[in-house]
This record gives sequence, C-alpha cells and structure tokens, in this order.
Amino acid sequence: AIELRGIYKRFGDLEVIKGIDLTARRGEVVALIGTSGSGKSTLLRCVNLLERPDAGEILFNGESIDLRAGRDGTLRPAHHEQITRVRAGIGFVFQNFNLWPHMSVLENVIEAPIHVSGLSRRQAVAEAERLLEKVGLGDKKNAYPAFLSGGQQQRAAIARTLAMKPAVILFDEPTSALDPELVGEVLGVIRQLAEEGRTMLIVTHEMRFARDVAHRVVFLDAGRIEEQGPPSEVFGQPRSERCRAFLATHL
Ligand code: ATP
Ligand code: MG
Repeated sequence: AIELRGIYKRFGDLEVIKGIDLTARRGEVVALIGTSGSGKSTLLRCVNLLERPDAGEILFNGESIDLRAGRDGTLRPAHHEQITRVRAGIGFVFQNFNLWPHMSVLENVIEAPIHVSGLSRRQAVAEAERLLEKVGLGDKKNAYPAFLSGGQQQRAAIARTLAMKPAVILFDEPTSALDPELVGEVLGVIRQLAEEGRTMLIVTHEMRFARDVAHRVVFLDAGRIEEQGPPSEVFGQPRSERCRAFLATHL
C-alpha cells in the first residue's frame, strides 16, 4: 500500500501540489483524472521519489520515507538505500514507453532484474519470457523497440516494470501517445493486472476504462483533490461543479 499525507510541491513560485492526502490500499486501483496542469504527473513523480515533496509524508507499506533534502535540495544521499528500495518496489509506466532503443525487448526486461535485483541472467531471462508471453509479446522478444508498434512498445514497458515485482504500479497516461486503434490492447493488459489484484495508481484520460476498472476515482483540480469516490458516484452524480464541468467535456 502507498499512503500520502499532506503532500505539497512547488516549482519556484508555482505551487503545483497543495496538500494532498491519498491512499492506495493493497489491491486497490485508483484512477487519477483532471485537467492538463492540475498536477497529476507531479503527484505520481512525488510518489516514486522522482520529485522531492516540499512537505508531507509518504508511507510505503507502512514505512515512512525520509523526504528531507540533502545539501543540493534533492533527497538525502544518506538515504540512498531506502530510496533505491522504494523505487524498486514502485513501478512506473510512462506515457512514452521509455524503452532503451539500443536493446532488444528481452534485454530491456532483464536489465534491472540483473543489475538491481541481482538475479542471474538465466533466472531473469526465464521470468522475462514468462512476462512477455503474458503481455502478448512472446514472439517479439528479440525485436528492437523501433520495430514495434506503440502498443507493443508499451506492453513491453509494462513487462519490464512487472519484472521488478513492484508492490505498487504507477501509470502516467499509458495510452495517450498511442494511435486510437492501439489503445485497447494496452488497456487490456492493465485490466488484466487489475483483475490479479495489483495495487495501481493510474493517470488516464480514458474515462470509460476508469469507470470499468478503478475502485476509486480521484479528480484533481489545481493541485487539490476536488472530488473522489467510487466510479459510479464520481461519474454518475459528481458533487463538485468543477468535476461536473470536466466530465462534461471528457466523457
Ligand atoms: P497533463 O494532463 O498535461 O499531463 P498534469 O496534470 O500531469 O498535466 P503536471 O505535469 O503535474 O500536470 O504539471 C502541473 C504544473 O506544474 C504545470 O503548470 C507545469 O507546467 C508545472 N511543472 C511541472 N513540472 C515542472 C518542473 N519540473 N518545473 C517547473 N514547472 C513544472
Ligand atoms: Mg501529466
């Protein structure tokens, strides 16, 4: 589980995250929605410690993460061990796949298990082959990313994330860089992960998917949680005027 308490984040004069409390319990799928610039990506990046929150607390499986700054303003190197461990336990799937272009799909998937988790090459390859099979890429393991469709690249990126056996997976608009006809195959994989009971935080503009798959929908507006609840309530009878206006243009 991941728990955020009173998270704040500013960039210079711009306060982007203004006191957010958010929990994803074990097995829970939380969809984050909101207008462009409302702080969705920044919030995810804080969860994964890609950004250091200015204030607040993050608990990962009950363990409080040390968010104090070192001399350069980033997370303190003294806590490198904790940061590395937390990052390994929280997978991140990006909008633009971020596969290594000079590595085959299989090499992309086994890289971190070998170099971060310390698996043998043989163990890592066996696990990678299983995961690539699972996301429907069993026949593409030796292909290079440039030779795959966007949907295939994103499924490879998901397999790469799964290879680290993360306790929580964060998705930042995993389908918004895809041609429309490729969106379904990626959402299908994420849906399958939800059915397996994985803990996931998903930023998405796919409202129908959020309604079908999420246990809870959180509507972010100008760095605050404006509305949240089960999809049936948030989509069915939103209480907030801003949420209603957002849904009117995005449903
Ligand atoms: P989108 O739907 O367009 O992806 P978002 O909800 O993910 O939007 P963020 O990317 O979190 O929004 O950005 C929130 C605000 O913070 C924006 O005004 C953005 O310009 C600003 N911002 C984000 N990252 C930085 C940064 N590294 N430096 C300065 N400003 C930033
Ligand atoms: Mg974003």
